[in-house]
Amino acid sequence: MKGKLWVIGFGPGSFDHITKRAQEAIEDSDCVIGYKTYIQLIEGLLSGQEIISTGMSEEVSRAQAAVKLAEQGRKVAVISSGDAGVYGMAGLVYEVLVEKGWKEDTGVAVEVVPGISAINSCASRLGAPVMHDACTISLSDHLTPWELIAKRIEAAAAADFVVSLYNPKSGRRTKQIVEAQKILLRYRSPETPVGLVKSAYRDREHVVITTLKDMLEHEIGMLTTVIIGNASTFLYDNKMITPRGYQRKYTLDKEEQRLKPAERLKPENEPWALHAGDHHETSSSSATPASRPLDWASQALQAVTQDGYESQSHVAYAQSQGQEQAPIFELAVSPGVANKNLTSQQLLTIAQVVGEQGQMSYTPDHHLLLQIPTHNPDDITEALEREGLILTPVGDVFQLKACDFCEGEKKDAIPYAEEIQEKLGGIDLPKELKLGFNGCGMACYGAVNDDIGIVYRKGAFDLFLGGKTVGRTAHPGQIVAEGVSPEDIVNIVEQIILEYKERGHPNERFHKFFKRVQSIQGFPYRDVTPKLDIEPAACGED
Ligand code: SAH
Repeated sequence: MKGKLWVIGFGPGSFDHITKRAQEAIEDSDCVIGYKTYIQLIEGLLSGQEIISTGMSEEVSRAQAAVKLAEQGRKVAVISSGDAGVYGMAGLVYEVLVEKGWKEDTGVAVEVVPGISAINSCASRLGAPVMHDACTISLSDHLTPWELIAKRIEAAAAADFVVSLYNPKSGRRTKQIVEAQKILLRYRSPETPVGLVKSAYRDREHVVITTLKDMLEHEIGMLTTVIIGNASTFLYDNKMITPRGYQRKYTLDKEEQRLKPAERLKPENEPWALHAGDHHETSSSSATPASRPLDWASQALQAVTQDGYESQSHVAYAQSQGQEQAPIFELAVSPGVANKNLTSQQLLTIAQVVGEQGQMSYTPDHHLLLQIPTHNPDDITEALEREGLILTPVGDVFQLKACDFCEGEKKDAIPYAEEIQEKLGGIDLPKELKLGFNGCGMACYGAVNDDIGIVYRKGAFDLFLGGKTVGRTAHPGQIVAEGVSPEDIVNIVEQIILEYKERGHPNERFHKFFKRVQSIQGFPYRDVTPKLDIEPAACGED
C-alpha cells in the first residue's frame, strides 16, 4: 500500500483561520510531523496520531522522516505555519522526493494544502496595506547570501512594491533589518507607513503602526512580519491603506460618477495605460523626446492629479506628513551649442528650479545634469528655456558636443552645428550617442574621439565615424570623408543617425554597430581597433 504525504499550511495560528481541507487532512493522517511550537498550536485537532516534533532548524530531518514514513505506507501530515509553500516545508519535501527519483504516477501521493500566509494575515490586522503589487522578502541569510537579499530589497524598493519582510530579526540576526531599512530609505520617504505585526491571530498578538524612519524603535522579533507601504500607502484612523487606483476614475464620496461605465475604458480616460497601437519599447523606439517613458509617466501623473486623484484621506496624510513623493525629472542643460558661458541670471534660474530637494552635477560633456523631484516638469522646462538654455533629455539619446569655436571667433561652422542640434538633439537611439563638432582643424575639443566626429576645415567638413569613447581599448573614429561640402553635411549626418536608430540593436554602441553592418550610408568600415593583447576590465574593477 502506497502512503500519503500532506504538506499543510495551518495559517497564522488560530483555529478559525485553518482551512477545512487542512483540518480534514490532519484528522485523516496517522502521523503528524512539525516544529514543536506548531504541534502545540494545532493540538486541539489531534486525535491520537503519532507526533514527530523536532526543533526549529531540523527541517531537513523532518522532511526526510516524512518521506520515509510515507514510503512505508503511512499517512503523514507535515505542518507549516502560514502557507507551506512560503518559506515553509513544501519545497523541501519535494526536494527530498526529487533526490529519491520520486514520480507522481508511481511514488507516494503528495498533496500541498494551502494556508493563509503571514503577508495576508498580518495585512488584515493593519487595514489594507497589500492592495497593490507586493512582494515577500525573507531577511534570513542562513541559506541565502545577504548580497542577494540586499539586491532584492533594493529592486523592490526601486520598483515601488509594497514589501513584506519575513524573518526580520532573531536573537543572532539583528543587523539585517537595520540594513534593510537603510536600503528602503534610499528610495522611499522616511514617513512611509510601516506595520509591525507580531503573532497575528495568536495569543500574544501585537500590532504597531509606525513609519519607515521610526520602525526600529519598536520591538521586532522572530514572530514579527514587517509590512512596508508603497509611495501611495496612507494612514487613516490607525489603518494602513494602499490605494488600488480607483480614485483615478471614481469620486469615492459621490454616487454620481464623472465617467459613465462605457467611458471608463476609453484611452483618453486612462492616459497611463498601454493601448493598442502604443509603442512603449524603450530606447530603440521611434519618436521624439516627447514620447520618452519619463514623459509618459509625468503626463499620466499630471492627468490624474488634475482630476482629483488624491482622495481626501490621502491629501490629509500627505499634509500630516508634511511631504509628498514626487517623481524625479532628469534633464541636461547647457548654455548653447557654441556658447560655453553661463550668465549669472541663467545660474540663478537653474538654482531656483533645482531648489532644496533637487540635485545638479557637472558632466564631462559640458552639461549640467539636473535631477528635480516635481509633478510639473513643464514649469521647469519653460523657466529654463526662457533663459535661452538648451535642454536635452538624458539616457540613450543623441547629444551634440561642440567646441566654443574660439569664443565665437571662428564662427563659420556654427550654423551647421546648430542645425544638427535642432534636428536631432535628444532623439531616442539604441544607445547614447555623442557627436563631436569642432570648428577648426585643431579639433581641440576632441571631436575625432566621439562616436561621430565632424571637423570643419578650409570651408568644408571632415567626417569621422565609430570612435570608441571609453575603455582601455578606446580609439578615435576612422576618417570616412574629407572635404564634405556645407550643403551636404547636415543631411549626411542625419541619414547616418537615422540608419543607426533604425538598424541598431538595443544597447548596441555606435562603433559596434558600424563594425557589424560594415557600411553606413555607403561609408565602408575599416578595422582600426588597436591590436592589443590586454585583459578585459569591467566597470568598477580596479
Ligand atoms: N510559512 C510561513 C512563513 C514562515 S517564515 C507563512 O506563510 O506565513 C517565518 C516568518 O513568518 C516569521 O519570522 C514571521 O515573519 C512570519 N510569520 C509567520 N506566522 C506569523 C504570524 N502569525 N504573525 C506574524 N508573522 C508571522
